[in-house]
Amino acid sequence: MGVGVSELRNWLSAYDKTQITIGVVASHSSLQILHGARLEGFRTLGIAVGENRRRYYSAFPGADPDEWLMLDDYKQMLDYAEWFREQNVIIIPHGSLVEYLGSDNFKELQVPTFGNRGILHWESSRERQRQWLLEGGCMMPKVIDDPHDIDGPVIVKYAGAKGGEGYFIARDYRDFKRNVKLEEEFTIQEYVLGCRYYLHFFFDPTASDGFQVRGKKSKEGQNLGRLELLSMDRRDESNVDEFYKLGSLRDLREMSLEPSFVVTGNQSVVIRESLLPKAFEMAEGTVAESFELEEGSRGMIGPFCLETIVTDKLEFRVFEISARIVAGSNPFVGGSPYSDINEPFMSTGRRIARSIRKAIDNDDLDSILS
Ligand code: AMP
Repeated sequence: MGVGVSELRNWLSAYDKTQITIGVVASHSSLQILHGARLEGFRTLGIAVGENRRRYYSAFPGADPDEWLMLDDYKQMLDYAEWFREQNVIIIPHGSLVEYLGSDNFKELQVPTFGNRGILHWESSRERQRQWLLEGGCMMPKVIDDPHDIDGPVIVKYAGAKGGEGYFIARDYRDFKRNVKLEEEFTIQEYVLGCRYYLHFFFDPTASDGFQVRGKKSKEGQNLGRLELLSMDRRDESNVDEFYKLGSLRDLREMSLEPSFVVTGNQSVVIRESLLPKAFEMAEGTVAESFELEEGSRGMIGPFCLETIVTDKLEFRVFEISARIVAGSNPFVGGSPYSDINEPFMSTGRRIARSIRKAIDNDDLDSILS
């Protein structure tokens, strides 16, 4: 069941700490991760399937990896575990790695990995996420258990949907019945009307300065580590973002068109400054709760994202959490309006590399890896 701390320590004891290599699957946020790793002085390794994947990196020499591992299938990474360890590789996980390997395989990957892999179990199911976020003090969209109870706009989400694919909006039971694929597992959520903000936080459990997260329950009274806000994005979603150009929802239905939520890109945003205290309160509660999820939980480590909607009452609704780097941080390779205040050119990718650098210097790698 996963990788234990003693196993991790065992692997790390054989690592040459002067030759650490940052390894990443060539997708998702890899340009940013590779670029950030290089800025912090690391060797880099790209992992890819297919020559086309590799070729385009030559257009970005600032991120082009020092070395490539070319595979026929990403699942072969499991067989290369010993090779990775011989090369002193630390893998930086992102959404595509977890998707390509499968979350169970990822948990078993016998290579040191940035962050806490245990937390992915909580991230990977909507019910567990909900329990975590509500306990952490976040307000979430209502869930409708019985489709007959739909009495206003709802969004129907399928369990394994990637990037919002296949989601649909329904106004009543008839709408729901017309569109739903009953053979798939789905959740019905209240459709929250408002503006979306995807808040990119970073939690550094090894720092004792800055905004300290206060522990609760089993860790009551303890400072758990430093919470940082690195950046904020809004996703471009096709076709819903441009839907209005064709008329009202009713006009569109007459043309047999339904809105879809497929992510195609990301834009930089900032939030009204008076909403920041609430944003930090939610993120602090979420981090504090991550230590309470199960006995001995190592809690959140590194980047995570709260996906939110702010209503016209200036209230947040959190509809999802990602407990790792999100692709929404890609607009900020050169820093963001938030991270620039503390240090220019600090992307999330670079912040991860900085964290690894500091842990190497303090001989403390096992506190940020799993
Ligand atoms: P998700 O897969 O949960 O990240 O959702 C994909 C997209 O669907 C989001 O980026 C939003 O545009 C939209 N969305 C998800 N949940 C809600 C909600 N409860 N209310 C309104 N829009 C939502």
